[in-house]
Amino acid sequence: MQIKAKKEFGQNFLKDKGVLEKIIQAMSDRKEIIVEIGPGLGDLTQCLLEKNSVIAFEIDSDLCVFLKEKFAKELDEERLILHQGDVIKQWDSESSLISKPYILVANLPYYVATPIVLRALSDPMCHYIEVMVQKEVAEKFSAKSRSKQYCKLSVIAQIFSKVKVLFDIPPEAFEPSPKVFSSVIVFKKEDTTFDALHFRAFYDYLETAFSSPRKLWVKNLNKNYDKAVLIELLNEANISFQVRPHEIDPITHHHLFTKLTKVNKDVKRDKRRE
Ligand code: SAM
Repeated sequence: MQIKAKKEFGQNFLKDKGVLEKIIQAMSDRKEIIVEIGPGLGDLTQCLLEKNSVIAFEIDSDLCVFLKEKFAKELDEERLILHQGDVIKQWDSESSLISKPYILVANLPYYVATPIVLRALSDPMCHYIEVMVQKEVAEKFSAKSRSKQYCKLSVIAQIFSKVKVLFDIPPEAFEPSPKVFSSVIVFKKEDTTFDALHFRAFYDYLETAFSSPRKLWVKNLNKNYDKAVLIELLNEANISFQVRPHEIDPITHHHLFTKLTKVNKDVKRDKRRE
């Protein structure tokens, strides 16, 4: 069966065996079931199946036909379960991708890698994420405060997981070759008991806080909160009112968000009493 890579689905197939081995080695001895998004031609799937059972989500119906033939035995034995469709839609219909604890290991399509990582971070069933993404995206997720790449993605990832970039991969490792370098990045979650609403509210706060990254934190948040309250919070935390969002480390952002949530709740309660 002749398979032609489809650009619209971000298909760059990983052909370098050395890279596949390094991805598998980094997983160490995790016991959870493996979820793979975008198995493609199944080279990574084959390696993952040597570690544990795999549940795979693939959008491309032609690839699903190919995979069903290639993995007929594993599908029959239910060591591999293959879902055809857009994984984002699956996440939109349920807050967890599957109903038991899992780890996500995948070579993600560039065009949808960031939304996939964000959904996996907020999915309480997902305990560990090891994915290949565009190098620039990995740099954003792992950036430290005050660096050029530091942004809302750095903060949310580093609050909800321990982030580590493992290694870079050159375009030649793929068929067809993309125009950019890729990186393998790991997000290790220590606490999976948070609720998805908390994640969403914190992300909304970060969108506002970083809406104009070079503007003052107070100015960005002034759209939603009283300026005096914002300045008082900064004073309490011993931070200058001239601070900009990229100068605040992830833990301090989370602290400020928690305080603002409390202020909002108090205002709503006072209004109800009036
Ligand atoms: N895992 C294979 C490999 O390493 O060679 C393929 C990786 S390729 C970069 C991305 C894969 O994700 C393709 O198979 C593509 O069809 C699939 N894909 C793209 N968008 C998707 C989506 N929204 N949901 C599920 N799979 C998707």
